Amino acid sequence: MNQFFKNLLLWLIVIATMVFLFNMFSQPQLPQEEVAFSDFIKAVEEGKVEEVTIQGNNIKGKFTDKREFKTFTPNDPTLIPLLREKGVKIVARPAEQSPWYMTVLISWFPMLLLIGLWIFFMRQMQTGGGRAMAFGKSRAKLLTEHEHKVTFKDVAGIDEAKEEVQEIIEFLRDPKKFTKLGGRIPKGVLLVGPPGTGKTLLAKAIAGEAGVPFFSISGSDFVEMFVGVGAARVRDLFIQGKKHAPCIIFIDELDAVGRHRGAGLGGGHDEREQTLNQLLVEMDGFDSSEGVIIIAATNRPDVLDPALLRPGRFDRQVVVPKPDVRGREEILKVHTRKTPLAPDVDLSILARGTPGFSGADLANLVNEAALIAARKGKDRVDMSDFEEAKDKVLMGTERRSLIISEEEKKNTAYHEAGHTLVAKLLPNADPVHKVSIIPRGMALGLTQQLPLDERHTYSKDYLLTNITVLLGGRAAEEVVLKHMTTGAGNDLERATEIARKMVCEWGMSERLGPVTFGKKEEQIFLGRELAQHKDYSEKTAVEIDMEIKRIVTDCYNKAKGLLLENIDLLHALAGKLLEKEVLDGAEIDRIISETKEKREVIN
Ligand code: ADP
Ligand code: ZN
Repeated sequence: MNQFFKNLLLWLIVIATMVFLFNMFSQPQLPQEEVAFSDFIKAVEEGKVEEVTIQGNNIKGKFTDKREFKTFTPNDPTLIPLLREKGVKIVARPAEQSPWYMTVLISWFPMLLLIGLWIFFMRQMQTGGGRAMAFGKSRAKLLTEHEHKVTFKDVAGIDEAKEEVQEIIEFLRDPKKFTKLGGRIPKGVLLVGPPGTGKTLLAKAIAGEAGVPFFSISGSDFVEMFVGVGAARVRDLFIQGKKHAPCIIFIDELDAVGRHRGAGLGGGHDEREQTLNQLLVEMDGFDSSEGVIIIAATNRPDVLDPALLRPGRFDRQVVVPKPDVRGREEILKVHTRKTPLAPDVDLSILARGTPGFSGADLANLVNEAALIAARKGKDRVDMSDFEEAKDKVLMGTERRSLIISEEEKKNTAYHEAGHTLVAKLLPNADPVHKVSIIPRGMALGLTQQLPLDERHTYSKDYLLTNITVLLGGRAAEEVVLKHMTTGAGNDLERATEIARKMVCEWGMSERLGPVTFGKKEEQIFLGRELAQHKDYSEKTAVEIDMEIKRIVTDCYNKAKGLLLENIDLLHALAGKLLEKEVLDGAEIDRIISETKEKREVIN
């Protein structure tokens, strides 16, 4: 039954219900005044009634003065003789019948209601469409070797992971060669890493390189409302896999089914446990010499049931990390293969400016840049398109239409110039890439610094410099405009956070010493802090607060001092920003050196 007919039927039921109710409550129209039966008889006896129409026990009629009336009779056998005696004209009608459609409706109504409910339930169960009855079938998608072939050339920046899976490819290409020598091939490989780093892509590439079919299914597809459905799907998936061996079965989001048993909350819990058990049974029940390899992906290996990781199951783990600078450049190269690039595009600069981007983010960046270039009618994508795309991906679209008062704009210009100048004046700050006072997302302005290379550890000096640069915005507002705005709120928050980590996590405070305070539970790979346990006294808490405050205040004073000493540079930068709205690194350098020359002329 397709969607159209289901909708049609639903509407029919709704309309039928309305007709039914309407008829229930609206009696056929009877005009006329209603009189009591006794009054009616009296009127007849007095000869005031001219004519009556009798229908069952209802009587309508006309008085001699032409007024119409109606009444209801008990079964009074003397009525007719009386009427005849008085010479009243009598019209008799058969007792009223409900119209035919009402009869049909009344007898069919419960039936229709049932059908409606049934349709409603079917929809609920299907959760998002799909086949109604194929509950127990796995929903695995099959990708055969010919369609969308992905190879290692499409996967960049994760060379170590590629190397680790090389052996599996060799095995899939020629399973017999391996088994003859008695080698044991892993049944299951678990790809572990943050979202968007190319786990699915890598699994597909393994299939592509080996030239075998690729079945993919997501862990969340197993989780259904009915107990037993997930398990049936797992069974079906393995049957299909064995039929197509050698092949790869890829299970995305393994954590959706593979969570630690007994850790679930509330409903759907038994179902998931059954599914997981079935998965374990199936994995134990076949031999990798059959040529089926299970690859699963997750970004939460910490929540997986330990049984999944035992030998003979997912005993091989391959980490797929976020790419570093070089990796990002490689990935950008892969994704710009088919994009016509202007000569000024330098992918290494782009790679440097996108720390923390995953492969999927970079693919998105290239796509956005191409869209921006197309919208501008260009036939090649140039660096400015990439810059715009990057800002869009990072901060949201420019909001040029946002109306900003002159005063606010001036404030933003000095604020951003403050960040920029402090960064320029401090020797170990990251180079300033761009500064802008075009509102974007939630921010009114933006100073972008690009680290020269990926840093994995930070020195205390570098952290203090970062705090000072963050506070440079607020300091400039105070020095020049003599007032403070709320625009610096986010800067202050970030500065305080760095200072807190310096004291509590990295033991960088002289007063408190190299001790950490407050253990954290981190979500592995997502880097999000879930909870903090307080493991220090109230007195220590006060000291920590004081120490954080001292660090932030020192940095703030340093920023203020630097700006006061170089107030001419601050005015020059802010003035130029007000005029041009965006300055790049080279322009900033030029403004600073030109203003410094003037300084020497005056002296
Ligand atoms: P995951 O499965 O880890 O969440 P995907 O494999 O689905 O990530 O990645 C999504 C998309 O991002 C891919 O289709 C690809 O276009 C791009 N991508 C991610 N990582 C890489 C990479 N290492 N090399 C090339 N492209 C990548
Ligand atoms: Zn700021």
